Amino acid sequence: MNHKETFYITTPIYYPSAKLHIGHAYCTTIADAYARFNRLRGKDVFFLTGSDEHGQKIQRIAEAQGMNPKEYVDQIVASFKALWERLNISYDDFIRTTDKHHEVLVQKIFQILYEKGDIYKSTYKGLYCTPCEAFWLERQTNDGKCPDCGRPVEEVEEESYFFRLSKYAEPLLNYYKEHPEFLQPAARLKEMESFIKSGLEDLCVSRTAVTWGISVPFDPKHSIYVWFDAVVNYISALGYLTNDDTLYKKYWPADLHLVGKEIMRFHTIIWPAMLLALDLPLPKTVFGHGWLVIEGEKMSKSKGNVVDPNLLIDEFGADAIRYFLLREITLGSDGNFSRDSLIRRINADLANDLGNLIHRTSSMYEKYFPEAIPELGAEEEPEKELAELAKKALAEFETLIDSYEPQNALESLWVLIRRANKYLDSTAPWTLAKNKDYPRLARVLYTVGEVLRIASVALTPILPTSAAKIRVQLGLSADCTWEEAKVWNGLPVGNRILKAEPLFPRIEEDEKEKGPVKPAKEVKSTKAEATKKPEATVVTEEQIEFDDFLKVHLKVATILTAERIKGSDKLLRLEADLGTEKRQIVAGIGKAYSPEELIGKQVAIVTNLKPRKIMGLESQAMIIAAGDGSTLAVFNPEKPVKAGSIIG
Ligand SMILES: [Zn+2]
Repeated sequence: MNHKETFYITTPIYYPSAKLHIGHAYCTTIADAYARFNRLRGKDVFFLTGSDEHGQKIQRIAEAQGMNPKEYVDQIVASFKALWERLNISYDDFIRTTDKHHEVLVQKIFQILYEKGDIYKSTYKGLYCTPCEAFWLERQTNDGKCPDCGRPVEEVEEESYFFRLSKYAEPLLNYYKEHPEFLQPAARLKEMESFIKSGLEDLCVSRTAVTWGISVPFDPKHSIYVWFDAVVNYISALGYLTNDDTLYKKYWPADLHLVGKEIMRFHTIIWPAMLLALDLPLPKTVFGHGWLVIEGEKMSKSKGNVVDPNLLIDEFGADAIRYFLLREITLGSDGNFSRDSLIRRINADLANDLGNLIHRTSSMYEKYFPEAIPELGAEEEPEKELAELAKKALAEFETLIDSYEPQNALESLWVLIRRANKYLDSTAPWTLAKNKDYPRLARVLYTVGEVLRIASVALTPILPTSAAKIRVQLGLSADCTWEEAKVWNGLPVGNRILKAEPLFPRIEEDEKEKGPVKPAKEVKSTKAEATKKPEATVVTEEQIEFDDFLKVHLKVATILTAERIKGSDKLLRLEADLGTEKRQIVAGIGKAYSPEELIGKQVAIVTNLKPRKIMGLESQAMIIAAGDGSTLAVFNPEKPVKAGSIIG
């Protein structure tokens, strides 16, 4: 028998300095869906998550609370595991950097690289961001602030060990070129390439001030830099360099390191350089996802908008949260998390489209064929169409998951689900029942049951609990394989279809909780005012001819580069791709967007305005946006389109 194809997927190991927030849940949910999808496809999956427990920050927090660091991290790690259980995260191992076998491997690797000459002793003088545990050069900081987190950096000077990272600049750039699948999405590849090209210095990999860490084996007053320690988890968990390295041999190199965009540097420069130095294969793909912004604002403790996933699970259930995170946010880009959009998704997609289809189907089975699915009439044209659509939806689902577009994969599946609802409307089973056309009625209900069966397979990685419930309603076992989804007419005749409680009840939002944004009060104004208002709009607004509208050329542009313009906190200089040409744009959107989050984004622009000079730079197009200051928003097509596409 052939060996099963393996699939090794990892999340970052999270830092137990505080409870996890929705951003951690986001990353881990995506990883879980990918792990489950690959298991469904019959692969031998190893899914790793864990905790990154050493470092100065943990040491300080624990001391402040009068605990030793291990006691402190133990309680936080317990909360990580409890959350993953509630979110249905199917990890195979949870690695802690305080695990003995991990600590031993970190020391071994340090020793090997020292003996090879890739680690050497020198003096470190420079800047350090303690919250990020990251070293910085003066020129990399923003006026003494950490470029990653914006907090002040500290000056440190001490005897240290260095890893010859500079030696790997060229090999890394070559590796990126030869392995285009290695660093994704493409916007991050450009960032990392320019980071390397701006000059890669050797990396300081030890600290003497930090006692909560793994000590340098041959010089124990030094402890090993936490990032050097942390990334080794991906192979220490597999038993690399131990008596039993079966897992290492089976699963390394990893198929996918899923990480947040802020730690791409550690995973696509430092970690691969360490692997190159060790002569080990590099992971196949490192994918950097974007950040969740909360109601349009960056999540931060000071703003008090940190979202606790536990509260969301209490209120909406794990499956609904998982669905939202995978469906609403474009993987790789930043995405907005808001209560309104969460409720909208649950109501529209889960309660309405999917929930209704299940409810209508099972109710009609209960009414017309309560015992079992009876003998079926022949398939007619509408069934054949639905069968074709199901085949297409599944093929798209698989391709889009593999190309890291779970949001579009789910949309493809929902096209099928919505179509099945329409099929029920148009075939009108209630009329068939009235006319006593039972073979046809049996065929129609069976066909919708079939769509539900197929959807239950595809949804297993996304909505594990609900998908299993749907299968039980259809008289199927909860276990399934991807191959089963590809079969049409796979629901066994004779199965009994059960009616059950709605899987996703509609959420009726209490007006009070929605906040003061709704215009309900205006509507309650007197009739006279209500009729006056629309007239006023018509009169005050100057009207134009259709031809006038056509004079404005609106196109979709993809932003290639973005940088702040010195001396302005509002203006950004952008380079935008229009397919056949590139334009320089000076845009006043710098209070609402950081340059990083714009790179790779598609925006709507006016291309035929006369060029204007702003702060000495020629602006060759205008970005369309709404709002002002930090609430300003650009317009982004609902799905990616070709750069230069005409809007109209
Ligand atoms: Zn920082």
